[in-house]
Amino acid sequence: MPTIGTPLSPMAIKVLMCGAGELGKEVVIELQRYGVEVIAVDRYAHAPAMQVAHRSHVIDMLDGDALREVIEKEQPDLIVPEIEAIATETLVALEDEGFTVIPTARAAQLTMNRAGIRRLAAEELGLKTSPYRFASHLDEYRAAVEAIGAPCVVKPIMSSSGKGQSTVRDVADAERAWAEAREGARGGSDAVIVEGFVDFDYEMTLLTLRHAGGTSFCAPIGHRQVDGDYRASWQPQPMRASVLAEAHRMGKAIADALGGRGIFGVELFVRGDDVYFSEVSPRPHDTGLVTMISQDLSEFALHARAILGLPIPNIKHRGPSASHVILAKGHSQQVQYGNLGAALSAPDTQIRLFGKPEVQGERRMGVVVAGGKSLAEARQKARAGANAVTVSL
Ligand code: AMP
Repeated sequence: MPTIGTPLSPMAIKVLMCGAGELGKEVVIELQRYGVEVIAVDRYAHAPAMQVAHRSHVIDMLDGDALREVIEKEQPDLIVPEIEAIATETLVALEDEGFTVIPTARAAQLTMNRAGIRRLAAEELGLKTSPYRFASHLDEYRAAVEAIGAPCVVKPIMSSSGKGQSTVRDVADAERAWAEAREGARGGSDAVIVEGFVDFDYEMTLLTLRHAGGTSFCAPIGHRQVDGDYRASWQPQPMRASVLAEAHRMGKAIADALGGRGIFGVELFVRGDDVYFSEVSPRPHDTGLVTMISQDLSEFALHARAILGLPIPNIKHRGPSASHVILAKGHSQQVQYGNLGAALSAPDTQIRLFGKPEVQGERRMGVVVAGGKSLAEARQKARAGANAVTVSL
């Protein structure tokens, strides 16, 4: 069993968060509860997790030299990626030199790129996925769309939150999706994946936890996405027992293949009795924000406990629960949130405001989570609460 020292002393256990957004903020708060010393890193100052960490650094995390410099200076016991866009080859090298990356540097590297994780899931592990092709130039892309057929979904292989993603309903429309994908790509590669469109009954996240005592699952989370970005989630997603068993099998297979300890957000599509693997985050998942109210240990608390090597004998689920995001649209560095009293007037409702320093375009600024007697009631309360919050720019 690990020992934990005193923060800001030579005995401290130090965690370096790569990425300091709202999910990282909750992980930092959970680590602080154990007296862990936390250093938050992101590309801009005053990022949410920086506001609750012991100290922070502002660097471009895709810049391997800058990342190495901070890590060598801080000498963290654990390096915890919170986002995908990190110089993962530097993490691989640092792991070889003796640093510990959560869950593993290879997991960060494979999931940074849709090609890596898709090939592992479909070709090595044999998990069911939509049909797919990769393309890095226009001729290859045209052939890929031809082979997969419409409707299909086109995504940059390096992107997140739906950036650059679009659905091709008609092959004649394919070149628009190609242009969009290349504009939305994050850098490093401008290749795309063309995936067969899965006309799913529902999509879900299976939070899969690898910890000192084995593998555990949270109750399945259903969610709704708009333009590839999460808007609302709920737990437990009703599922047939046989389908849930298949989801568990797939979740364990992919988490075991990535290895290490921590939470994995396994994204699955369900159609009838069929479960399709979509992707996985080797870290807490945004749709799992609902666990802040639905579980005694949220996904963030579970992640913290697992990565510290502590046991997790059970995960208590509290019943029907939901989350709904608070979005801001526009341009401001002085966002204000009002009408919070009305948003919190229903029982069993909570708000998190992430404290993001600015909005440029559309941005997730907070979330309302709620519990209820039924999923319908919990979802209605979370949605009404989020809609009641006024956002002034
Ligand atoms: P992703 O960034 O891959 O998680 O995609 C974001 C969202 O787009 C998913 O949560 C789905 O709602 C939708 N989506 C992605 N790929 C497909 C697909 N092959 N078929 C149907 N919907 C998809």
